[in-house]
Amino acid sequence: MKVFNKPFTQQEAIPEEGISAALNVMRSGRLHRYNTLPDEKSETDLLEIEFAEYQGVPYCLACSSGGYALHVAMRAAGVQSGDKVLCNAFTLAPVPGSIHNSGAVPVFVDVADDYSIDLEDLESKAASSGAKFFMLSHMRGHLADMDRIMAICERYHLFLIEDCAHTMGASWNGKKSGTFGDIACFSAQTYKHVNSGEGGFLTTRHSDVMARAIMYSGSYMLYERHFAAPPKEAFEQIRFDTPNYSGRMDNLRAAILRPQIANLDAQCERWSCRYRVIEAILTRCADILLPERPAAEAFVGSSIQFSLPSFAAPQMLDVVKRCGERGVVLKWFGDAEPKDYTSRYDSWRYLEDMPKLPKTEQILASLLDMRIPLTFSEEDCALIAEIIVEVIGECE
Ligand SMILES: *Cc1c(COP(=O)(O)O)cnc(C)c1O
Repeated sequence: MKVFNKPFTQQEAIPEEGISAALNVMRSGRLHRYNTLPDEKSETDLLEIEFAEYQGVPYCLACSSGGYALHVAMRAAGVQSGDKVLCNAFTLAPVPGSIHNSGAVPVFVDVADDYSIDLEDLESKAASSGAKFFMLSHMRGHLADMDRIMAICERYHLFLIEDCAHTMGASWNGKKSGTFGDIACFSAQTYKHVNSGEGGFLTTRHSDVMARAIMYSGSYMLYERHFAAPPKEAFEQIRFDTPNYSGRMDNLRAAILRPQIANLDAQCERWSCRYRVIEAILTRCADILLPERPAAEAFVGSSIQFSLPSFAAPQMLDVVKRCGERGVVLKWFGDAEPKDYTSRYDSWRYLEDMPKLPKTEQILASLLDMRIPLTFSEEDCALIAEIIVEVIGECE
C-alpha cells in the first residue's frame, strides 16, 4: 500500500541571503523600521520599494499581518460603522474579521462552481444591499473573471479591496492580481507565498488612501520616512485626525522577506509545476471534478481544490480519514464542525443576521483542499495524487 510521509505544513528554509541580512539587522540593534542612521533606508523601506516595483504600483505599506492590512484597508477606504461590505462567503476568517473590526457589516456572496466568487450573486447583492465597498478574496488562488468584476464595480460604484493572500504572483490576462482594485492586501504568513512567520502588505495607487494607511499603521509623525509613499503634503490634512493602530513591519522580518520577493516568480513557477503533476493524475478519476481554469488566469499552484460531487457527507469523511491514514492531509470544507483554519461563513457566529446560502453550502459539501508545500518534489506530488485516486476508488 502506498503511503506518504512528509509533513504538509513544512515550508522551505529562509534563503541564506535573508538569514544573513537578518543577522546583520540583529547585530545592528536597529530593528524598528524608523530606527535608521541619517540617509539610511531600513530593510522595511527597501522591502516596500521592492514590492511596489514588483506589483508595478506607486505605493506600498508593509505591516504586521495580512489580516491587519485588510483592517487598515477598510479604515483607509473610509468605511464607517454600520456600512455594508460585500465579501466572499467562502474565504478565510481574517476577511469577515477585518470587516467586523472596522464596525462594518459583511454581505456574503455565494461561491461559484469554479470556487471563485459567484458573479450573478455579486451583481444581485450589489444592487440589493446598496453596499459601496467590496472585499474580494481570491480564495485559494482562484481568480474570478476580473473583467466582469471590474464592470460590476463600475456599475455599482464599488470601492474594491482585493485580498491577495493566495494570489501573490498571480495574474489575469497578464495584469497582476492586486492591481485591479483600489487597494490590495497580501500576507507573508508562513503558509502563503512568502514567509516571515507573520507579515502583510497593503498596496494602492491612491495617494490619499496610502497616506491614511500609513498613519493608521503607526507612523506617528515619521511618515516622511516612507519611500513607496506619497509626498508629505498628502499627510498634512489628515495627520491629526487619523488614529494610530500600531501594526508596523519590523526590519528583521523585512530582511527575511526581501530575497523572497526577488525570487517570487521562480517559486510560483515551481508551485505550478507541482500543481500540474497532481492535476494530471486526479483528472483520470471519474469521481473527481476539477474545474477547468480559465486561460486568462495565471495562478499560483500553492494548493489544489477539487470536488467529489457524487459523494455524501459520510463518504467525504471517509476519504479524508483514509487519506490521512496514508499520510495525505486533505481539508474538507463541508465539515459541520469547522476544524483548524475556518473558511465557512456559518462558522462566524459573532455576526448578526446570518444569511442562509444554500448554493455555497452545496458546493462546500463536496469540496476538498490540499496544500502543496515546495518541500514536496514532483515525484512526491505524483505519489500523493495516486494515493488520493486509490482512496476515492475504495470509498465509491
Ligand atoms: C492568510 C489569509 C489572510 C491573511 O491572514 P494573516 O494570517 O492575517 O496574514 C487573508 N485572507 C485569506 C484568504 C488568507 O488565507
